Formats: sequence, C-alpha cells, structure tokens
Amino acid sequence: MRDFTIEKYWKLCNTIKENYGTLTFEGYLTKSKNKFIILRHDVDRMPENALKIAEIEHESGIKSTYYFRTNKSVFKPEIIKGIASLGHEIGYHYECMDKAAGNPEKAIKIFEDELKKFREICDVKTICMHGNPLTKYDNRELGKKYDFKRILTHTETFGFNL
Ligand SMILES: [Zn+2]
Repeated sequence: MRDFTIEKYWKLCNTIKENYGTLTFEGYLTKSKNKFIILRHDVDRMPENALKIAEIEHESGIKSTYYFRTNKSVFKPEIIKGIASLGHEIGYHYECMDKAAGNPEKAIKIFEDELKKFREICDVKTICMHGNPLTKYDNRELGKKYDFKRILTHTETFGFNL
C-alpha cells in the first residue's frame, strides 16, 4: 500500500514552495518566461563602451556576460569591477596561444597567470576564446592539449565556449 497521506502532501507542497516556482502545464507552454536569451559580449577593445552597455542592461533588468581580453587597453580593473557590480558575469577572453607564438607550454602558463589576474578582481567561471584572424596560431589548439576544467577546478560551475 502507498503511504500517501494528506499530511505528507502538505509537506511536499511546502518543500516545493520553498525551493521552486510552479507553473501549470498551460502556463509552461504559454508563458514567455520559458524563452530566454544568453547575452554575451566579447570586449575586444574600448571597455568604456562595454560599461555603457552594461549600465543599459542593468537599467532594463537584464544580466549578461562580458568576456574581457587582458591587453592593457582592455583590462581595466575599475571597469571590470563596475560591470560585475551591476550583476553581470565577467569571463576571460583568452588568446594565450597567440601570445605564446604557438607554444602550448608557454600558453598554459599565460592562461593561468591571466586567469589569476582576473580572480584578483572578481569571480571568473567561464572563459571564451578570442579569434585573432591576424595570427597563424589557433587558440583552440590549447583546449585540445590541456583540460581547462582542471585549471578552473575551484569553481563549482563551468561553462566553456569554443
Ligand atoms: Zn574577441
């Protein structure tokens, strides 16, 4: 016999209510909440513009992700902090294969150093490759040789974008 009493159902309802929002099936099929967009910005240059965009999104109640390169003109800690404080995610836009002239050992060292630079400012959970059409090195090669998940281990979630 199933042990399914009214009291248990009360408990179940309370647990659901504490942890989830609920929808009817019709609601699930028709509510626009089921549609979502993941907004991602690669900050290749002019980080000041990224901050402006981040402010507009914030005013509109939108959250997005900003992938920053580490060049001097792009990696501006104050801007990065500003964007993060608006509730957006900050990610690492890496191009270490280019910087290491195709040497994977050097590239992984650069990757770790640059990731550390970010983590001195804010949390980084996702990374995304910068495609540089002007160099002959492919940053994707690094992902084939090294397991980025290992390097990013102390974060709980991990998103990878190639
Ligand atoms: Zn880029």
